[in-house]
Amino acid sequence: QVVTRFAPSPTGFLHIGGARTALFNWLFARHHGGRFLLRIEDTDRARSTQEAVAAIFDGLEWLGLGGDEPAVFQFERTPRHAEVANQLLAAGHAYRCYATPEELAELREQQRAAKQPMRYDGRWRDRSPEEAPEGAPHVIRLKAPRTGETVIEDAVQGRVVVQNAELDDMILLRSDGTPTYMLAVVVDDHDMGVTHVIRGDDHLNNAFRQLGIIRAMNWEEPIYAHIPLIHGSDGAKLSKRHGALGVDAYRDEMGMLPEAVLNYLLRLGWGHGDEEIISRDRAVELFDIAGVGRSPSRFDIKKLENLNGHYLREADDARLAALVAPRIAQRLAIVLPAGAEKLLTDAMPSLKPRAKTLNEIAEGAEYLFKNCPLDFDDKALALLDDSARALLGQTADALAPVPSWTVEAIEEAIRRVAEDAGLGLGKVAQPLRAALTGRTVSPGIFDVLFLLGKAESLERLAAVRH
Ligand code: GLU
Repeated sequence: QVVTRFAPSPTGFLHIGGARTALFNWLFARHHGGRFLLRIEDTDRARSTQEAVAAIFDGLEWLGLGGDEPAVFQFERTPRHAEVANQLLAAGHAYRCYATPEELAELREQQRAAKQPMRYDGRWRDRSPEEAPEGAPHVIRLKAPRTGETVIEDAVQGRVVVQNAELDDMILLRSDGTPTYMLAVVVDDHDMGVTHVIRGDDHLNNAFRQLGIIRAMNWEEPIYAHIPLIHGSDGAKLSKRHGALGVDAYRDEMGMLPEAVLNYLLRLGWGHGDEEIISRDRAVELFDIAGVGRSPSRFDIKKLENLNGHYLREADDARLAALVAPRIAQRLAIVLPAGAEKLLTDAMPSLKPRAKTLNEIAEGAEYLFKNCPLDFDDKALALLDDSARALLGQTADALAPVPSWTVEAIEEAIRRVAEDAGLGLGKVAQPLRAALTGRTVSPGIFDVLFLLGKAESLERLAAVRH
């Protein structure tokens, strides 16, 4: 059975690259009817925080990428990691190294001076611990093969080879008895039954060292798939400037839907023909490692926005209304009236066609909740000159007698005003939009009038007419 895992270090938010790694692991497991597990790699006690753990769970939940079992916290497994180090020691695959920090610093200095790669030289590899002073501090190091080569048939990178002479005897257990990251990852992956390690290619070098431990323990080797990192649109390593933000920023600040972010992340480094819109179910059906490209993908916020626009148009209006309502309340710094969500739901067909984010929908919907007299933006105010105000008076007079407030009846009345004034519809609609919404962009003007209702529309017109 396929078992994959996502193993973030809780030192910051769940960033977009991590979310993609989680998604690929989740999809791979789902595609093969396997399990997807979570492991919080919190062994760096100084940098790991509870907030980061919470942010990771929160982001994964929002994306629907929860683990199939409760998450494993790596730090809790320290005794087990030490146990394995001691097993390796007992089996002769590891040894105690008593080299002092000063000695090692000196070694590094010599290597630096000789322009040699900095590497532990194995000075305690063949010495007996009895040569060390009683109770002296020591680490446990892996006795790594020194000749030959280590080969990884990586499912993304292909065949990757490292000469064993380049891998030194890495530390498994520090002198304070704590396990190193390399050891912890291997032991946890083994104990969790992980069959496929899918992660960023910044971990490829680690894989060779990790394999050393796996082989010394005679454990089954996982299949590795090291996926290229995400770069910015300019090809440089992804940074904040490019959108290397926490997943929560895409949700809260930018107003993206989770299905859009997922679809975008899926297409970031993975493809199936030229399909762009791929639902979660379709992705489960199609996903494979072979579709992951070898070159870094470029983050393109425009593409994400376009996908988000697509998913907004597909989304249920009541769901969008619930998502947009708090944004409007915040923007206007008001408490929305009862029935606001119902109104927003009714308004949604007019609000969402051109919107790319929830924020844009909220912006477009603000007019519904403003109080009369409106705050006009500069462009709107510029439209409301004397002749426009006179025209708005005529419009108000034409609308007042409309007996049933339907979009059709409204449209008919407005068209009549335009005809009587010898103006195009746009010339009437522009100041009307300014008067009713305080802005120069809004949903269709007949929808605006209809959704505001007759009384509110006439009140807003009365406030500006001459
Ligand atoms: N904890 C590592 C990270 O956050 C991932 C380790 C792994 O996937 O093997 O980058």
